[in-house]
Amino acid sequence: MPDFRDPDLASAVADVIETGTGLDEKAVLAILRLPDDEIPAALDAAHQVRMKWCGPEVEVEGIVSLKTGGCPEDCHFCSQSGLFTSPVRAVWLDIPALVEAAKQTAATGATEFCIVAAVRGPDARLMSQMRDGVKAIKEAVDIQVAASLGMLSQEQVDELVEMGVHRYNHNLETAQSFFPNVVTTHTWEERFETLRMVRESGMEVCCGGILGLGETIEQRAEFAMQLAELDPHEVPLNFLNPRPGTPLADNTVVDPRDALRAIAAFRLTLPRTILRFAGGREITLGDLGTRDGLLGGINAVIVGNYLTTLGRPATADIDLLAELKMPVKALSATL
Ligand code: SF4
Repeated sequence: MPDFRDPDLASAVADVIETGTGLDEKAVLAILRLPDDEIPAALDAAHQVRMKWCGPEVEVEGIVSLKTGGCPEDCHFCSQSGLFTSPVRAVWLDIPALVEAAKQTAATGATEFCIVAAVRGPDARLMSQMRDGVKAIKEAVDIQVAASLGMLSQEQVDELVEMGVHRYNHNLETAQSFFPNVVTTHTWEERFETLRMVRESGMEVCCGGILGLGETIEQRAEFAMQLAELDPHEVPLNFLNPRPGTPLADNTVVDPRDALRAIAAFRLTLPRTILRFAGGREITLGDLGTRDGLLGGINAVIVGNYLTTLGRPATADIDLLAELKMPVKALSATL
C-alpha cells in the first residue's frame, strides 16, 4: 500500500497501480496538496504506475522549428508571439536544414522528430513546405515525423495524414476555466476541435500544457482531468520559463516541490500515457530534476534545444538513461 497518511488516498493510489485507471479529481487534488514529506511516496507510486503500465523504455524526441517567432496569437507565456516585445524574430528554416536537424536528432537515438511552426494555423505556404520537408526527411532518415502547426482545418488534417505525419501536437496549455486569462485571440474550445479532428483521423494525439501560468492548484487538477478525458497518446508537461517581453515575464517559477507533486499527479491521472518532460525543467528543477522526474513517472524526454531556449546537451540525457537502466525506446516499438 502506498505510504500516505490519508488512508483514502493510499487506497486510491493503490487502485491506480493495480488497475491502470487514473485518479479522480479529488485524489489528484490531494496529491497536489501533499505535505513535503509525502512527496517521495507520490513519486514512488507514480514510478510504479509508469513501470507497470508503460514499461521502462523512454521515448527520446527531437524538435525543430520550421518557422520561429512572429505568431499573430497572444498566448501570454510565449516569446514567439509577434504581439509582444520578446526578442524572437520571425525566421524560416529551409528544407536542407530541416533534413540535417532530423539526421542529428536520429543520431542521438531519438525515434521522434517533431516539426513545429509558430502560427495560428498553417497557410498554403507552410503546408507545401511540410509536404516537401516530410518527404525529404523520410527519404534520408529513419525516424517518425510529428508536427505542431497550430489549429487545423479538416482538409489540413487529411493532408498531414497523407504526408505520413504520425503524431500531431497541439497543447490545451491549461485548464479550460483559466485559458481566457492567458490567451484572448482564440479559445480553448477551438484548440479542442483540432484535437478532436486529429484523433478521428487516426494520427496520434500529443497534448499537454504549461504549469505556472498563474493557475490555482484546483485548476491544475481540473487540467489533469481534462487531459485524462481527452486520453492523448502523449502529454508534454512544461513549466513556465518566464520570458522577457511576455506578459508573464514577472511570474515566479514553479516551486520545485510543486513541480514534483504535479509530475506525480499527472502520472497518477494518466497511467498509460507517454508523459514527456518538455520546456522549463532545467529552470524549475535544476539538473537533478531530470533524474527525479524519470524516477517519478516521466517516460519521454526532448533532447537538445527547445524552441526558444537552450536545453541540456543531448548526451547528458542519454547518459542518464543508461545510468538509470531505462532503455531508449526503439523505432520498431513505436511503429
Ligand atoms: S503558443 Fe503557439 S499560438 Fe500561441 S503565440 Fe506561441 S506560437 Fe503562437
